[in-house]
Amino acid sequence: MSTKSSPTPRTPARKLGVAVVGLGSLTHSHILPALRKTKHCRLAALVSGSAAGLKTVAAKHGIPAANCYSYDDFDRLAEQPDVDFVFIVLPNSQHAEFTLRAARAGKHVLCEKPMATSVAECRAMIAGCQKAGVQLAIAYRCQFEPHHREAIRLVREKVYGEIKFIEASFGFRIGDPKQWRLRKDLAGGGALMDVGIYVIQAARYLTGEEPNWLFATEVKTDAEKFREVDETLCWQMKFPGGVIASCSTNYVVDGIDRCWVGAEHGWFELNPAFNYNRIAGRTSEGKMRLPQTDHFVPQLDDFAQCIREGRPSIVSGEEGLKDMKVVAAIYQSIGRGKPVTLR
Ligand code: NAD
Repeated sequence: MSTKSSPTPRTPARKLGVAVVGLGSLTHSHILPALRKTKHCRLAALVSGSAAGLKTVAAKHGIPAANCYSYDDFDRLAEQPDVDFVFIVLPNSQHAEFTLRAARAGKHVLCEKPMATSVAECRAMIAGCQKAGVQLAIAYRCQFEPHHREAIRLVREKVYGEIKFIEASFGFRIGDPKQWRLRKDLAGGGALMDVGIYVIQAARYLTGEEPNWLFATEVKTDAEKFREVDETLCWQMKFPGGVIASCSTNYVVDGIDRCWVGAEHGWFELNPAFNYNRIAGRTSEGKMRLPQTDHFVPQLDDFAQCIREGRPSIVSGEEGLKDMKVVAAIYQSIGRGKPVTLR
């Protein structure tokens, strides 16, 4: 008989508790379902302005009434040890306020895109989280998706040589004219802030650089519906390494969702590229054979691991700030009617 004692079983790491802030369509359709599938996270608390909505969702997900908060109650999260991080899924204009309140409550923050509505807000969010010693990440789900990871690998390993040109567009036909996305005070901007941000992100993570020049133009086909926010934008960006990106976004037509990259000896594209239902990729050699995944699951699990290991996320607040600087430069270029140089 062996005298060796059997190894002590390892206690599985505690799943990190998440407070979801905002019970709108993204929370219902993707975030709550994804939380059930994560390895390192669990739904621990809910925050909403609707008492009835809180009651229904809490009952469905087994969240006790003590872990349900109104927006006014939110700061009591400081006394809730069950919650490690908050996931902010509110209209864009509320991202900064709730990030800062969460940081003051000692909670790490995962914040939906766009990070905020201005560069100043992004800077304040980063400073507030640093001061509180909590992590801040922006929910750029594509960076956790296999086709996007493969696109980044193709560039970094120069599989087709140096890349030269990116053509990327993302837009959709927006419905209800009364929704918050069409109000400047709540959305900060229009199609650019909402979905054009994916195009900016992709051009930045593919090149691994910040654009140093851009020129943008705007068209409105429905001046009444889009009186407060942008509707259709086209812009070109130059990167220090020589890559040119030709980009567009809009709120008027469904189905524009692609990212094409031309390199010295070949090309690749993601088409569709940015939606959360299906991504497809091909290269000048043929189809990319990669799985369809739930983007929200690895995004949540990665943030939990970053918190546990004390390492910054690949989609940290700094990433959100860099995108917002590009957004601001695009609006500046439109306002001035000429190109803008970025530093
Ligand atoms: P939504 O309108 O469906 O939900 C917004 C939530 O905020 C609702 O619960 C609403 O009650 C609440 N809210 C609080 N104050 C409000 C106010 N003054 N006006 C309107 N609603 C208010 O929006 P959504 O589609 O769930 O988007 C929420 C956030 O998630 C946005 O920042 C959006 O950009 C982001 N988003 C990200 C993705 C992604 O793929 N990562 C997809 C969709 C939305």
